[in-house]
Amino acid sequence: MIAHPGSEVRVLIRSRPTANFAQELIKYLPDGQTVSVHQRKDSRKGVVNNQLSSWSFRLDGVLHDVSQEEVYGRVGRGVVLGALEGYNGTVMCFGQTGAGKTYTMTGATESYKQRGIIPRALQEVFHEVEQRSDHAFSVHLSFLEIYNETLVDLLASVRGCPGVGPGGMAVVEEAGGGVSVRGLSLHPVHSEEAALNLLFEGEMNRIIGAHALNKNSSRSHCILTVHIESRSRTLSDAKYVTSKLNLVDLAGSERLGKTGSEGQVLKEAMYINKSLSFLEQAILALADRRRDHVPFRQTKLTHALKDSLGGNCNTVLVANIYGEASQIEETLSTLRFASRMK
Ligand code: ADP
Ligand code: MG
Repeated sequence: MIAHPGSEVRVLIRSRPTANFAQELIKYLPDGQTVSVHQRKDSRKGVVNNQLSSWSFRLDGVLHDVSQEEVYGRVGRGVVLGALEGYNGTVMCFGQTGAGKTYTMTGATESYKQRGIIPRALQEVFHEVEQRSDHAFSVHLSFLEIYNETLVDLLASVRGCPGVGPGGMAVVEEAGGGVSVRGLSLHPVHSEEAALNLLFEGEMNRIIGAHALNKNSSRSHCILTVHIESRSRTLSDAKYVTSKLNLVDLAGSERLGKTGSEGQVLKEAMYINKSLSFLEQAILALADRRRDHVPFRQTKLTHALKDSLGGNCNTVLVANIYGEASQIEETLSTLRFASRMK
């Protein structure tokens, strides 16, 4: 099943399993595409107010109580196979901190069965590369973190890495409409194992960097990019076909409490807000055929993904939600964001 690129973004919901699942408040309809949320208004000052507000959201799929393997099959596989055919692709997880974005993208490292989309995608890429002996493939990885609009190379620690040159890192436009990140290291990988080692190293660096700067790692966006180049071995004048597969763990989308946020926390939230709202605008503009200007350059996130969203690309957004009543406000806000993308 190869995804056929179109300008739309596929949007799926994934809910995190919980013992306190608010069954009466969040309902998954049997069509597998609709989730409805019912919010009970608080009773105030002894006045019993049983008013219910309800919302219904219809998306491309609702992944509730679904294994990591099935999530990969429904979210990742088509984008990965498309990338091997030369189509850029992006899989992104969106949602409040704790809702399961990293679990969905990376998975639980201690359990093979709970591997997420990234390790499964890497496995499939190398499996396909081996199978397709009529093509010569070369695969490189890069791992970019965006924190407060600053670019960080999560693989700069890898031995032999050239390091960032003068001028630092920047998203740059290439001839032909592509973008690349100047100063971001690209690592040739020849096996699934080597790719997983790089993933692991990058994730360690994300954690170490967060500690060193006293920042919260859920406040940054991370983009693991698989750069694929292939060329037919059978046609003598075959051209190189290149593509990028971006696997993105977005920063937590939660809004700040009304009081008590200041300094660093406030600054982080402002940057996240800005980049997520421009991501939304870029996706909406891409879907609107009448608009010829898409505001990609407004933030580093959308600029870095410019050539891998919409158009001739496969784009999938997974909106991760909690099932608890206590999180209903954030859940609603995530579902609204998700359904606006449709
Ligand atoms: P986020 O990256 O959105 O902040 P995490 O992926 O770190 O959230 O998830 C928070 C916790 O919930 C982790 O311990 C994770 O293993 C667990 N978790 C999230 N989603 C699931 C799921 N679908 N099944 C089992 N555990 C999950
Ligand atoms: Mg996370």
